Amino acid sequence: MKPRAVILLGAPGAGKGTQARQAAQRFGMPHISTGDMLREAVKRGTPAGKAAQGLIDAGGLVPDEVVYGIVEERLSLPDCAKGFILDGFPRTLAQARFLDRLLEKQNRWEPLALNIQVDQELLIKRAAGRLTCSLGGEIYNTYFKPPKKEGVCDVDGGALIHRSDDNEETIRQRQAAYQKQTEPLIDYYRHRPYFHSVDGNAEPEAIARQIWAFIEDHDHLQVSGGDRTAAAQRTDGKRDSGRDA
Ligand code: AMP
Repeated sequence: MKPRAVILLGAPGAGKGTQARQAAQRFGMPHISTGDMLREAVKRGTPAGKAAQGLIDAGGLVPDEVVYGIVEERLSLPDCAKGFILDGFPRTLAQARFLDRLLEKQNRWEPLALNIQVDQELLIKRAAGRLTCSLGGEIYNTYFKPPKKEGVCDVDGGALIHRSDDNEETIRQRQAAYQKQTEPLIDYYRHRPYFHSVDGNAEPEAIARQIWAFIEDHDHLQVSGGDRTAAAQRTDGKRDSGRDA
């Protein structure tokens, strides 16, 4: 059976990180966030990190070639053998074409592309209010999902961090970069067999149910145990009908 890639599309603040994390746990696949990998590279001071730092802080995109290197290396690791969930990649048409070539080279199925569609006002609040656990990566929001104790993760007690690029000015730049460079990807994937757009204005649990249902409908993915009942409570009903033979 060929392994599958899942792509999450959506503007900054759409909830890609939260959803990718949960879907990765549910399906037992790695969650691959280019934003996380680039931030880690910045921390470690690698050449990719040095190229990325100023651009991340300014809310712009890191050059494609820098991202290609880290993505290709990551996708060739053994934990990606059965499939993976991409969060924040691809972000340009050139990156989408690069990914197509890479998936073909790795003999994988056509990717599943999910677009999380969210109204502009909500996007700003989701990004500006975001807090991330420095230990386990759990995501909180000062407006919608505050931790029980300020600054501390409910799950593992890690310190909660507010990303330096989650301030209003940089968020607006990131939204502009999204509209110019990333939004055209919706059309790129819309005409392919496995595209689904979900209403990202809903509660995170409802969004997750739509995402899981779409993934399970294309069940070449291996589900690594866990509770499948939530996925049975499907809320969408307007799902892509494409299946591969
Ligand atoms: P994210 O964590 O996905 O919001 O990404 C944070 C920042 O990392 C973005 O604003 C970009 O500066 C950079 N970045 C992440 N992924 C990519 C990508 N695929 N291409 C270019 N830049 C990226």
